[in-house]
Amino acid sequence: MIDVANMTSPEIRAAIEKGTTTAVYSVGSNEQHGPVLGVRTDTVLGDVLALRVAEKLGKAHKYPTVNVGCSEHHMKFPGTLTLRKETLQNVLKDITRSLARHGYKRIIVLPSHGGNFGPIEEVSSELKEMNPGVEIITYTDLTGFVAYLTKTSEKFGISPEDSGAHAGESEVSMMLYANPAGVRTEKIPEAKGYLGAFDDAATEKIFREGIGGLSPIGVLGDPAEASKEHGEAYIEAIATAIVEYIKAQ
Ligand SMILES: [Zn+2]
Repeated sequence: MIDVANMTSPEIRAAIEKGTTTAVYSVGSNEQHGPVLGVRTDTVLGDVLALRVAEKLGKAHKYPTVNVGCSEHHMKFPGTLTLRKETLQNVLKDITRSLARHGYKRIIVLPSHGGNFGPIEEVSSELKEMNPGVEIITYTDLTGFVAYLTKTSEKFGISPEDSGAHAGESEVSMMLYANPAGVRTEKIPEAKGYLGAFDDAATEKIFREGIGGLSPIGVLGDPAEASKEHGEAYIEAIATAIVEYIKAQ
């Protein structure tokens, strides 16, 4: 078994002793995702991503996704919860330390929400210092993460602007694949958001003014062409790229 959610502690202990010494967990959020997607989106996708990364790595356990992150830039919209950066970093220190204490030798921390990349990058060296003898791998390249998505969207003839970085075509597609019951497909025609470039200036504006500064409905992209098939391809592309990154460490 890969997902510890339905495993017992004796089963986990036996698996670690037999060499399952990698643990993977995502760091998601609970925040507005426009009129189509539910607030738990980044946590649902974090679960799917961590599971697929653990499957591809082999001899790995998938732990639960941290379900609240740093979402100050979404606080204009109800349903959003946010942690102070230090709070999230302390949660990550405690979770990572717990995993190390049980004998995992490699711990992988994957942000599945844009606002968590910076705080994770910042705490990364401390996580390593706190856990000598354990390989701690954090994936903290937000532009790289979005680039894996847009590279895949190109194959479907979807522009990077429509694919979007938040509740656009790519994220709605991934949710149609991962959790279709939570997608308000009838609202897709009303969900066209910011369609400019997702560059450094745009990300800087989001973190400074909040996402409402770019889109009054809190969407980056246009989910009009979203589909379950695209969604599976996006998840596969990100998981493959992250596994390559992990293996290169
Ligand atoms: Zn999201």
